[in-house]
Amino acid sequence: MQNHQKEHLYKILVIGDLGVGKTSIIKRYVHQSFSPHYRATIGVDFALKVLDWDSETVVRLQLWDIAGQERFGNMTRVYYREAVGAFIVFDVTRPSTFEAVMKWKEDLDFKLTLPNGAPVSTVLLANKCDQGKDVFMNNGIKMDQFSKENGFVGWYETSAKENLNIEEAARCLVKYIMARE
Ligand code: GDP
Ligand code: MG
Repeated sequence: MQNHQKEHLYKILVIGDLGVGKTSIIKRYVHQSFSPHYRATIGVDFALKVLDWDSETVVRLQLWDIAGQERFGNMTRVYYREAVGAFIVFDVTRPSTFEAVMKWKEDLDFKLTLPNGAPVSTVLLANKCDQGKDVFMNNGIKMDQFSKENGFVGWYETSAKENLNIEEAARCLVKYIMARE
């Protein structure tokens, strides 16, 4: 018997300002756990999530967490290299982290393109939505429009604490990555 399963390995970046919940989102998604205790990530961290995409396809997501370089707001090309997708995360309780989203998107698009020159698929995550969304929703920001105008393939309100929308966001990202291959 031959095995006809196809395997895909995708490098995915998880970027955004310090403390927005990048590490927590990865931990929730990969290890089904959450800790309220803050611990800054040290060094670059990887986590692997294996998805049985369909009966013929296995998808391995290599999630790259960043490591304190958040402060500088710009990453080296080496870190971005060969990624095919990204999550840009902000914290709905801290407007400054939303303002930084465009800085992250520009940095990413400037330093990394797919072999055909297109930007990589990027999903925007509005994290900590368990803490009350009004904080930034009340500012009248139209997220659908913002997301489209700025080249995101989608956006989700997420909570690493309550496990909201993280799997949905990942499926959305993978769908776009596959469509662009
Ligand atoms: P990072 O610096 O972006 O990696 O952020 P962390 O994942 O280390 O999270 C920073 C802090 O926010 C930690 O204390 C987490 O417990 C907390 N946190 C992360 N995600 C959520 C969330 O969805 N809801 C709540 N309430 N707290 C969160
Ligand atoms: Mg971290």
